[in-house]
Amino acid sequence: MKYGEELPGLTWVNENSFIYGGIKTKLTPWIEQYLDAKRQNPDALLLFRMGDFYETFFDDAKVIARALDLTLTSRSKNEEGVGLPMAGVPHRTINEYLFSLVEQGFRVAVCDQLEDPATAQGTIVKRGITQIVTPGTLCDDRPGNDRNARFLSGVFMNTDKSIALANLDLSTGYCTMTEVSNIQELASELQRVNVREIVTHDTQGALDKAFTGIPVEVRPRAIFSQTSLLDHWKSCDESETLLSKEKFLTFLASIEDTGFRQPDGVISAFCGILMYLVELHYKLTSNIEQVYPYRAEAFMQIDASTFQNLEIYATLRGGGKKGSLLGELDETVTSGGARLMQNWLAYPLKDVKQITARLDAVENMYNDVEMREALRGLLNATGDLERLTTKIANDRIMPRELVMLKTTLRVIPEITKRCSNAQAKYFRRAATQLNPLVKLADEIDRAIVEDAPSNLNDTNFFNPGYDEELDKYRELDEHGAQWLLNYEAKQRTETGITSLKVKYHRVFGYFIEVPKSKLSGVPESYIRSQTLTNADRFYTPELKEYEENILNAKSKRGERELELFADIKMFAAHHIPMLMRNARILAHIDVLTSLAYTAHHRNYTRPLIDETRAFVLNNARHPVVERFLPKGERFVPNDIELGDNSRFMVITGPNMAGKSTIIRQAAIITLMAQMGSFVPAEAAHIGCVDRIFSRVGASDNLALGQSTFMVEMTETANILKNATANSLVILDEIGRGTSTYDGLSLAWSITEYLHTKVGARTLFATHYHELTELENVLPGIQNASIAVKEYDKDIIFLRKLIRGAASRSYGIEVARLAGIPKEVIDRAESILKLLEQNAHGELVRSEAGKETASKSPKSAPQNPRQLFSQRSLFSAPEPEKSVSLDPNTEAFLEAFYALSLDTTSPIQALNWLYKWQKKLHP
Ligand code: ADP
Repeated sequence: MKYGEELPGLTWVNENSFIYGGIKTKLTPWIEQYLDAKRQNPDALLLFRMGDFYETFFDDAKVIARALDLTLTSRSKNEEGVGLPMAGVPHRTINEYLFSLVEQGFRVAVCDQLEDPATAQGTIVKRGITQIVTPGTLCDDRPGNDRNARFLSGVFMNTDKSIALANLDLSTGYCTMTEVSNIQELASELQRVNVREIVTHDTQGALDKAFTGIPVEVRPRAIFSQTSLLDHWKSCDESETLLSKEKFLTFLASIEDTGFRQPDGVISAFCGILMYLVELHYKLTSNIEQVYPYRAEAFMQIDASTFQNLEIYATLRGGGKKGSLLGELDETVTSGGARLMQNWLAYPLKDVKQITARLDAVENMYNDVEMREALRGLLNATGDLERLTTKIANDRIMPRELVMLKTTLRVIPEITKRCSNAQAKYFRRAATQLNPLVKLADEIDRAIVEDAPSNLNDTNFFNPGYDEELDKYRELDEHGAQWLLNYEAKQRTETGITSLKVKYHRVFGYFIEVPKSKLSGVPESYIRSQTLTNADRFYTPELKEYEENILNAKSKRGERELELFADIKMFAAHHIPMLMRNARILAHIDVLTSLAYTAHHRNYTRPLIDETRAFVLNNARHPVVERFLPKGERFVPNDIELGDNSRFMVITGPNMAGKSTIIRQAAIITLMAQMGSFVPAEAAHIGCVDRIFSRVGASDNLALGQSTFMVEMTETANILKNATANSLVILDEIGRGTSTYDGLSLAWSITEYLHTKVGARTLFATHYHELTELENVLPGIQNASIAVKEYDKDIIFLRKLIRGAASRSYGIEVARLAGIPKEVIDRAESILKLLEQNAHGELVRSEAGKETASKSPKSAPQNPRQLFSQRSLFSAPEPEKSVSLDPNTEAFLEAFYALSLDTTSPIQALNWLYKWQKKLHP
């Protein structure tokens, strides 16, 4: 069978007919054409241009009708009046539908008419695929579109197991590339760029597994090579490939210079993207003016789960920007600024000098409100210069957009003037680099009318006087009728024949008609063309010439406009590098002024960043939580101080007290500071952090077959393996997903390891009160808790971080607040009493008859005292052996369990410990 065997539900009866959905249908030329296009793109929905619509057929029609809420109709009806399912969308609004389909996860192949139906020869208009739109390549041109970058990533596995990555935002030509060591690092990088689609070679599904929800396209390894790209260049017209070989070679040089371990891998990843774009019928975009190879270590690293957990781009619940850090911080007024803001958040700096330069610039605009507001006002009047330039590069720019480009360029001199008067070097340098491209702006100004159309369907967008030839056609086109009236009047006067008429006939064209009775007055210069019963018809050379001009004026005018438009686009294309540079500088100015604006309006201060290992926040707030508190509640600011001698803080306190908030705010403030932003605190001093790690929030990754506990341990393993003494680690509970003893043991051991082996600044929020003991054992540990006040049986959250451990967990009180039935609460209270009075083992014995689930797991130690009896695992690792305690330790533990904490003051407890310590280790 020739066509469509891939289509589900389609079977062929013979060469000329098939059955689909139980309906026999004849193969017509257009169905043949449709099936051919579908066969080439079986994975994509096929939009097939027919007249003013893009139609879909077969199963695609049903899918699209559902996805876009369209009416399902039918076509090519047979004798019984039933036909193929069909659903279509008007071609003028195609972008709307494309956006919606791609957002729903479809790939869409657009099949266009390749010749003008009016002049087409043959039985059917030639059609062909002109574009395949995918999540990573959709350029959203709709007004009010999302301003975010949309990255397509190419992933190439190196032979040494490292992975190369290239990311391209097609809408702006922004392209970065890097190299990572493993899948986890790859996940972090992809999270940062907010990838929409991945193209890779066969990786045995490794990527599919790691990135659920992101489409992964697998292509032959061969396309990930320079050879494939060079072959492509050979096979096509130079003018068709807008990314020239020459430019590609300069990119290669910059990639080689970056110091990658496997530069060839990075180049392969880049080539893979380009070849994939070729497959999707994109021209290799010339707007890739520059590529940005970078080493991941050059920036503060944030792993993928931390990025999600800190809700940098999007909230965990709902996934929206509102309620995320980006949502709170982003006050940019341009799209380029918005994209850069996102980039800065994803790539905080590590270099103190660079951070200081940004902070200087923000401070400048923070102080100089007048200049800040002026710059923001000016930027507000600019268009999306990056995307406009990209459209010039792709030859997709429309007249209205060229006018927007001009408007943007016209604003630049004023921005330059302001920036050159700024205090911060950042702005003064920007002033020297901006270029108003006056000649280009003037040319557009001279050529194109202010309210130019947004497509090329309507011509007539050139200013009168711009081009003589165009003016002539326009004159003819618009004033042709008037000319004829004038001509007729003139002929009447000259001949004295008042009944003379100038008329038009579809076959004979223009002529002068004179009634038979007046023929004697006809001058010799008239040439007779026709004789009718009542009148004769004449023409003159002048009239014939005019006729020709008039009849052609419309099409000539259109042609001339397009010619002029092509010229002006070409002129603009010569300025692409400078336009891109302007775009980047404007985006920087926007982000810096936006950060100043936010700082001003949210009461942020400039942090002090240096090379020390300090971490001091005074009266710090969580930038998002403080904005979303229920009405009437006030955010309580807090101090956090970590230093060389107290780098690890164990934070206890009841649920809902604010532990998560405080540790998250510490991480977020660090990130903000190192991206160059002011921070929500009265003062902040942060020694530059190389990586932020978090173990917060608990989520099952069921898609990957991981339980909450497994996710928790995987994240923790990552921290223990990769954190350094310069990292910041925040931990929100560890070991909750297993038995208490397992969990406590793990939490204990992890704390020791982080404290002693890693030495990272760490904030650990926990319910394991036992961990607060470590303050006495390990020098760098400090206990803190969130204060609560007891009132009758209720508790009041004071939200204040104070020195020292919490006295207890208040779990039952919080459960009461949450509405757990009184009966359950009462029973819990009595169990708790028992537990507090007796060791756990005793509870098991005394309650044995009643409790069914109270057996302690076989693997767990008999009771927690065994833990306290051991010294730090890492200060003196001991071979595993069964624990038998000496009498002194036994006695200590007895005394320890007898100690009533409720009636012991801290001083008494300290004295008690002192006494026992002396006794046990004299
Ligand atoms: P925990 O981690 O101790 O269970 P959270 O950090 O989740 O508690 O805080 C619970 C809620 O308390 C938050 O959602 C927030 O509304 C409120 N909260 C936390 N910290 C503060 C604060 N410093 N000031 C005011 N409200 C706070």
